[in-house]
Amino acid sequence: MSPRVAHRSLLSTRSLVLNRSYLPVHVTTVRHAFTLLYKGVAKAVDEEYQTFDFPDWSGLKVNGYDGIGTVSDSIRIPRVILLTRFDRIPRRDVRFSRHNIFLRDSNTCQYCRDRLPASGLNLDHVVPRSQGGLTTWENVVTCCLGCNHHKGGRRPEQANMRLHRKPVRPSWTPFIARGAGDSLYDEWRPFLHGGERAP
Ligand SMILES: [Zn+2]
Repeated sequence: MSPRVAHRSLLSTRSLVLNRSYLPVHVTTVRHAFTLLYKGVAKAVDEEYQTFDFPDWSGLKVNGYDGIGTVSDSIRIPRVILLTRFDRIPRRDVRFSRHNIFLRDSNTCQYCRDRLPASGLNLDHVVPRSQGGLTTWENVVTCCLGCNHHKGGRRPEQANMRLHRKPVRPSWTPFIARGAGDSLYDEWRPFLHGGERAP
């Protein structure tokens, strides 16, 4: 396998990595996905959940998918791969952080629903700490500066405010999709469960 250099940028795009249970565990570069596929550590997965080893995959027609190589001899990008050996990779928890709260809430104030850059946002304790509220996924939301100021040290109902939606601990799956940047590939969709909206 020697992908020609002209395709460097395509090789730097992302592939979704599944464990043997078809659960997404990682996002890697297409370049690394090719390496894993070539070594037999992973199989490529198509949109019908079929798996292919490297020889079978390289024999497929590119058919409108992203491919690398020449016109007469190109190979489809493995946009989803399945690990065949390392099946003990645990699903990770999403780290509780300011950044990840903003990410969960799509940078949107959970009271007035304004979508703002991070500089215009604060974290709000739904039940204020002064009233026993905890610093947890379930009690901290993204809040614009205006709503934050208005709410002050009160519960939403005390301030006559309403949460846009109930805050929950996010599953990791949407985060790995978002971690790939703006591009959420169509080929990934069947494997990204969880019902949370794409960004
Ligand atoms: Zn607001």
